[in-house]
Amino acid sequence: MKIAIIGAGYGGMSAAWDLRKAGHEVTIYEAADYVGGLASGFKEPGWKWSVEKFYHHWFASDSHMLGLIDELGLSDQVLFPRPFTVMYHEGKFYPLDSIVKAILFPGLGWGINKIRFGLVGLYLRLTTNWRELEKYTVDEWMRKWCGETVYKLMWEPLVIGKFGEKYYKQVNMAWMWARLHARTTRLGTFQGGFQAFADQFAEKLAAAGVTIKLSAPVTQIERNTGSGAFSLTTADGLESADQVLVTLSPGVAAKMVPSLPKDYLEGLLRLKSMGAVVLTLSLKQQLSREGYYWYNIPKSAGFPFLAVVEHTNYVSPENFGGEHIVYLGDYIEPEHEYFQLSKEELLEKFAPSLKKFNPNFDLSWVNKSWLYRTTYGQPVPLVNHSQNIPAIETPIEGLYFASMSQVYPWDRGTNFAVEIGRKAARLMMGN
Ligand SMILES: Cc1cc2nc3c(=O)[nH]c(=O)nc-3n(C[C@H](O)[C@H](O)[C@H](O)COP(=O)(O)OP(=O)(O)OC[C@H]3O[C@@H](n4cnc5c(N)ncnc54)[C@H](O)[C@@H]3O)c2cc1C
Repeated sequence: MKIAIIGAGYGGMSAAWDLRKAGHEVTIYEAADYVGGLASGFKEPGWKWSVEKFYHHWFASDSHMLGLIDELGLSDQVLFPRPFTVMYHEGKFYPLDSIVKAILFPGLGWGINKIRFGLVGLYLRLTTNWRELEKYTVDEWMRKWCGETVYKLMWEPLVIGKFGEKYYKQVNMAWMWARLHARTTRLGTFQGGFQAFADQFAEKLAAAGVTIKLSAPVTQIERNTGSGAFSLTTADGLESADQVLVTLSPGVAAKMVPSLPKDYLEGLLRLKSMGAVVLTLSLKQQLSREGYYWYNIPKSAGFPFLAVVEHTNYVSPENFGGEHIVYLGDYIEPEHEYFQLSKEELLEKFAPSLKKFNPNFDLSWVNKSWLYRTTYGQPVPLVNHSQNIPAIETPIEGLYFASMSQVYPWDRGTNFAVEIGRKAARLMMGN
């Protein structure tokens, strides 16, 4: 078969790998001039490694991703450095990346709250019954089982941070379960950064015979009556395919294939998501004097961002010509002012807060900054979300859709992009 894949993120590239191995003729159409999608990176002259546009790492439990890397023969380039994650509490930051450190976290005291926190965490780690959990919101379930104090201190900041005031009370408990059930404290990356992996993956695809067209946005997909093949509208004119896999956001996919039946289209448009903004700074000096990597900050603490991530406390600044790389990130709704502000305006807003991480911080430390934003950064799973997920096989025969919004109950991640891409490939081949 002649197969067109729209999008060269990990979903599209993983599907292409399996489809090509099975002997199909595969073309990937990618709008950007690089591969890797949301997990792509950028590199300055003088840097050995790229920096991810949106901070990224793998978990030791990411079996689909680590399995694929192994299959590609690239496992020797996967690294699992041991960074420190901390959480803000009453003006100070405390380590919170292991069970022992969670037990020592002072916010919970030494009484019943610590026991409830521990028992609920253990239950969520062990249970596999997420279908029962998706009937409840995180807000009602956690308040009931952890109690008000533990919820307010440990879990509410996480849901508010990720889903904002608009959605945080509506997110279902299976989302929280997935994070606690599937994630590890060990964090992995690739030698050279995620972009180095994406580029090597693309090289392997090309060597296997996959055509990857960059700077090739597809604007419309139509199924031709009669022949059964598809016509793709691209910048170079019409192209044809026997089957098509779309790996974009549900909103963009809906616009691209207006001939989809009403029910399916409405299902795509009903899905909710949050956007993400990340301002990355190159600093002359290390920001965190303690060498912390990831600072979790509750919105209620009044910081203008949700996370400060000092990348070079995870991988060496030597990879970036000795520069110290710090991400300042937040999850926001598409209407948020952070989508309108320029990079300079955001830096002005964010910079004063950096003194709370290092009182000596000064704007003169900033060598350079970069701003990346996406309106599709985090799907929002509401109660009973499993009933709202669009099928990978769309009602148009031969047209498939696989996106971040469908990896539920898992939270979005490159590991699950690989899983869903490969699942789509199996369905396309009739398996
Ligand atoms: C802030 C943030 C932090 C994250 N952190 C992590 C993390 O730590 N670990 C992790 O594993 N995952 C993380 N993720 C999630 C991860 O990036 C995604 O789950 C994954 O990259 C999704 O892959 P995909 O192939 O489904 O989609 P995408 O990567 O979005 O790929 C879709 C591709 O389609 C292309 N495209 C769009 N429109 C068109 C068009 N019209 N024609 C052709 N091509 C088009 C896009 O350019 C893109 O390359 C994070 C995401 C964000 C936003």
